Formats: sequence, C-alpha cells, structure tokens
Amino acid sequence: MRALQWTGPETIAVNEIPVPDIGPNDLLIQVGAAGVCHSDLTLVNFPYQLRDDPLTLGHEIAGTIAAVGSEVSGREVGERGLVYLFWTCGVCRECVSGNENVCLAAGRVAMPPCPGLTIEGGMAEYVRIPANTFVPVGDLDFLQAAPVADAALTAYHAIRGAEEQLRPGGTALAIGIGGLGHVAVQILRAISGVRVVAVDVSQEKLDLATACGADLGILAGDGDGVAQQLLDLTGGRGVDAVFDFVGIDSTAKLAVESVAPNGAYRMVGIGGGTPPDINAGPAGGPGLPWGATVRKSLGGTRGDLHACVALAQAGKIHMEVERYDLTEGPEAFARLDKGQIRGRAVLVP
Ligand code: NAD
Ligand code: ZN
Repeated sequence: MRALQWTGPETIAVNEIPVPDIGPNDLLIQVGAAGVCHSDLTLVNFPYQLRDDPLTLGHEIAGTIAAVGSEVSGREVGERGLVYLFWTCGVCRECVSGNENVCLAAGRVAMPPCPGLTIEGGMAEYVRIPANTFVPVGDLDFLQAAPVADAALTAYHAIRGAEEQLRPGGTALAIGIGGLGHVAVQILRAISGVRVVAVDVSQEKLDLATACGADLGILAGDGDGVAQQLLDLTGGRGVDAVFDFVGIDSTAKLAVESVAPNGAYRMVGIGGGTPPDINAGPAGGPGLPWGATVRKSLGGTRGDLHACVALAQAGKIHMEVERYDLTEGPEAFARLDKGQIRGRAVLVP
C-alpha cells in the first residue's frame, strides 16, 4: 500500500509498504480520509532523527472497517467511523474517570500513544487500530469526519473546560483561525451564547472566522495594540476565555494581557511560547488578573469525541476542507507551512 511517511529530519515521502497485520483486539481500517494537522508539520520539521525507521504520519483518521481481529466483538467489516487518537491504557485512574487524554500510563509530561506521532498512522491506504478506538460516524462524509478526530476534538475539549466562563454576555477569543480555530469558533457558536472574537495574522483567515460565525475579527501584527482593543471592547475587563491555537510568545502575551479576572486562558497551540508576567505578586500590574486560570490543553476525551461527532452529524459544525490525494501530501504540508490552507487539508488515499 502507499503511505505518507516521515523519513528523516525535515523529509517526508510517499512510500510503498506492506498492509499492516492486525492482532486479535485490532481492526484494519481502509482509510477514507486523513487530516493534516499543524502538529504533523511540527514533527516533520524537527531537525533531529526521531527513530531509525520511517513513520507513517496521520492522527486524524476516518475510514471503513476492512478486517476485524479474532477477539473483537460488536464490530463488522464495512462499518464507517473515525479513530480516537489516544491509544490509552483504559484502566488507570484517569482513564476510568473520563480523562483519557491524560492517561497515567503516559507518565507526567508525555502524551499517550498516538497514531502518526508515535505509532504508525493513517496517511495510508490502511491502518491498524485497537478496536476500542473506533467511533462510528454513520453516513458522515469522511472528509468531514477525519478533522473531527483532532481539530474538533481538541477545540471542544479546551472550550468545555472553560464552560463556567462562557455565559451569555461574555466574550471568548480564538487566536489562530486554522484547522482548530475555525472549528472552535463554530463550537463556541453552537454550545454557548458568548460573543466570539477572532485574531489572526491573515485577513483571509479572519474572513473564514466570520463565515464560521465570529462576531468580530482583529488582524494581528507587530506591536499593534490588539490587547488594548480587546480591553476596549469589554469595558476594560478583558475577555472571559482565551483559546490560543498558536502558542508563541506574542500570542501568550496577548492572552495574559487580555484575559479577564476569573477568566480562562487555554494553551492549545504548541508553538513553544512562554506567557510573561504569570507571578505571585499582587495583581494590578500588566500580568494575569486575579482568579484567571491557565491550562495546557491536550486533545480531548472519548466523551468529547462523541460530542463532536454528534455536532458534526447535526450539521452544527462544518469542516472547511481542502482535499488532496495522498500522493499530493507533500504539497499539502508545504502549503500548511506557508499558512495557505483554508480550514483543514485532508488527504484521500
Ligand atoms: P494551522 O496551521 O491550521 O492554523 C494556525 C493559524 O494560526 C493560521 O490561521 C495562522 O494564520 C494563525 N497564526 C499564525 N501566527 C499567528 C499569530 N502570531 N497570531 C495570530 N494567528 C496566527 O494549525 P492547526 O492545525 O489549527 O494547529 C494549531 C496549533 O495547535 C498548532 O500549534 C498545533 O500543533 C496545535 N495542536 C495542539 C493540540 C493539542 O492537543 N494541544 C492538538 C492539535 C494541534
Ligand atoms: Zn493534531
């Protein structure tokens, strides 16, 4: 089969590899679509050798069951679905409490095993998955379903964790209207009554935010007073929830400077930025106001994924998609690197 693989530092290629074998508790999925996440790009752009063998990329996977392991019950060849991206232990305290995204087996600072990032992924004609990570999607189009597995899931989890802040009359800020951000705007619209403000460095992305239901878009540039604009918009209080889908120094600074007292600042983007002025001094300075919380938000839970599938099936969230053949994967990665993808790039094997 063909597979898009990381083959070494800063290199990817479409290679011919064997169709994977499956174990007794696995499913073989014939991939219908696989989304291209900025995290894939971050992995590909690592300047060092991750491992000796090539790694098949792709953690946003939707497709059809092609084979069922001998010990699996309740699943059939031909069922359509998507794949929960964390292949967790399922039995630890966090997993059984519904916090699978922080599965104890992963250790304190690592991420649970994830196809395409630490195990063979879904940018291929077939992928092996543990049967318990399969989530049926009915007749949802695979191009729509694939980005639900991460872009929607991760946005939803961050937003759900700030439920208390998302009351009518409040304001939420989404920074970075790419694959995750454009779904976040729609989720905020679908599940809360807040005013939604979008910030991006590209006017096209702000236009997409507006099309997704944002009330206002603010173009970010260098030293342009975006934080002040947000304070002005909110009577000097700041925004009730900030969802940062970029995570570089400048967006972290914007988050700290614009979040309201008791507000929620959620770090989702993994750009390596450090928020300034988070310290234990008396508030009153430029830093984090009283009561505000900061969370590094990773993926989402199985419950969040089911909620996202339901939102997609009900048409309450819609992925803006650029479709590429699997063999055009390198081109999709290059366009993502240049910030040229509108919504999500999705590969079709
Ligand atoms: P993307 O490339 O599709 O979107 C990024 C967006 O940010 C683009 O619209 C870009 O124009 C905008 N942007 C870039 N610099 C900006 C700036 N300084 N200010 C405002 N906007 C800016 O990326 P994506 O796939 O949506 O992923 C977003 C981030 O989230 C990435 O860092 C990715 O690795 C990360 N991610 C994290 C998790 C998690 O579990 N925490 C999961 C998936 C993705
Ligand atoms: Zn991702």
